[in-house]
Amino acid sequence: MLTEDEALAYGEAARGVVGDVLVRSQVAKFKKIRFHTHENIGYGDINLPEEEMQTRALALLFGPQSAGGKVLAGFDEEGIGSALAGAGTLIKTIAPVFLLCDPRDIGVAERVRDPHFGIPALYIYDKYPGGTGLSEALARRAGDLFSSIRAAVDRCPCKSGCPSCVGPGGNKAGTACFLDALG
Ligand SMILES: [Zn+2]
Repeated sequence: MLTEDEALAYGEAARGVVGDVLVRSQVAKFKKIRFHTHENIGYGDINLPEEEMQTRALALLFGPQSAGGKVLAGFDEEGIGSALAGAGTLIKTIAPVFLLCDPRDIGVAERVRDPHFGIPALYIYDKYPGGTGLSEALARRAGDLFSSIRAAVDRCPCKSGCPSCVGPGGNKAGTACFLDALG
């Protein structure tokens, strides 16, 4: 995170920071899939230049004092990663409903231990350089967002994660437990 422009608190659940971020993305591997059968036949390397973009983001922070952070502290590193990833997948699906934007307008990145803040974090960033106000708008609605994604997990009839909740093969139980703490 490059700047911290606005600090927010969501009760005991989490803290939030809105600011500028540098998003780096690089495609390093591609998956080879057989036509028709979609059978996976291996991976290959690609060399593309790293892409960089400066934009606006909302960082949700789950420090040791926060309710969300306390739940995560009970998980091992893999558990923290999968609970954050599950929450991130839900946010990517449901935040556009609050923001009246397309799911492709936002990106979500999870950090088990964020290099800037030193604690577990979820970044929701605007996919347009410089930002279009989505991060700021979401920062004000994060409390509602938490309850909506919690309800979406409850509603989903799958057993252990599917594309409409935490993602296929996701950690549904861990994500639900984490989201309970967010209220
Ligand atoms: Zn599901």
